[in-house]
Amino acid sequence: RRQKDGQLIALHEKAAELYHHILLRTQVGQHALKYLQDRGISEEQMTEFQIGFAPAERTLLKQVFQQENVDTQVISRSGLVTEREDGEQLDRFYSRIMFPIRNAQGKVVAFSGRLFLEDNYESARMPKYLNSPETEIFNKRQVLYNFDQARAVGRKENELVLFEGFMDVISASGAGIKNGVASMGTSLTNEQLTMFQRTVKKVLICYDGDNAGREASYRALQSFTDHSSLDVSILMLPENLDPDDYIQTYGGERFKEQVKNHRESPFTFKMLYFKQDKNLENEHERLAYLDQMIKELASVPSVIEREVYTHQLSEMFDISEEAIQAEVDKVLTTER
Ligand code: ATP
Ligand code: MN
Ligand code: MN
Ligand code: MN
Repeated sequence: RRQKDGQLIALHEKAAELYHHILLRTQVGQHALKYLQDRGISEEQMTEFQIGFAPAERTLLKQVFQQENVDTQVISRSGLVTEREDGEQLDRFYSRIMFPIRNAQGKVVAFSGRLFLEDNYESARMPKYLNSPETEIFNKRQVLYNFDQARAVGRKENELVLFEGFMDVISASGAGIKNGVASMGTSLTNEQLTMFQRTVKKVLICYDGDNAGREASYRALQSFTDHSSLDVSILMLPENLDPDDYIQTYGGERFKEQVKNHRESPFTFKMLYFKQDKNLENEHERLAYLDQMIKELASVPSVIEREVYTHQLSEMFDISEEAIQAEVDKVLTTER
């Protein structure tokens, strides 16, 4: 098993080096390199994350592996090729900017490729990101992008930052936030929750500042509170920006300021989240919302925090703190 895994990992390490070399040192990689530079990614970042480019021709890995007499069965099991109907193997990844995915031990076990076409025809038919399939060495439920590098910094700061995209992790790292990770484009799994819980006490959810990101933040928050004892905060970026957009628009320093000072507690996040779809001018909706928030308040463990939020609600609804407190007590008594 070990030895077999070693073989598949070796193919991935080889492919990562090759894609990286093509991006940085060859003519074929020029356009993609320029694109990344224009997006503010430095060569240092490209090297740190071993970003690469898979060119349009689909016989690159195939040829390299054949030259080294790698068994076609092994190549097939690596997931790096797809098989045509006539049995011919072709590279799975082409015309894509390549992000090697490493396991917790820092070994390349998969790739995610971002579509990069020089002329845009066909683009509508190809997904923006393409991930490796599940293989003997890659189970996407068990992998967090950049966990291998973020872990040590995370331990020191006792916090990891959860992003939506690989580009966000990379940009944030360039801004000095080195404890960022991302899931593989899926919602958070129990295996990933365990990775967080074994490493840190705190987590910051920093998804895209759009509606999809807000919904995903809510779901991630629920997973963390239901299945872990992690201390969660949420950062919602303005103007529909994702972290990478934000850093490009306002710079790394302002992003760090956001991370430091504009993170919300779960309660404050939910206060805004539940308000979105309600018309608080309407008395019925207003009372329903207040009721919802009182239930949330009752689930806040810290008495001090509860008092702060009671004050917030009291101001917002122009109701006495005593009345809110009395309702919270009712919820707490019926729960017992
Ligand atoms: P870019 O800034 O280059 O457009 P992004 O990171 O902002 O990239 P999003 O569209 O916000 O990309 O997607 C965030 C993450 O969701 C990606 O990093 C990827 O993991 C996943 N993802 C997005 N689109 C797809 C797709 N078509 N198939 C699989 N995963 C996807
Ligand atoms: Mn998005
Ligand atoms: Mn995004
Ligand atoms: Mn983006």
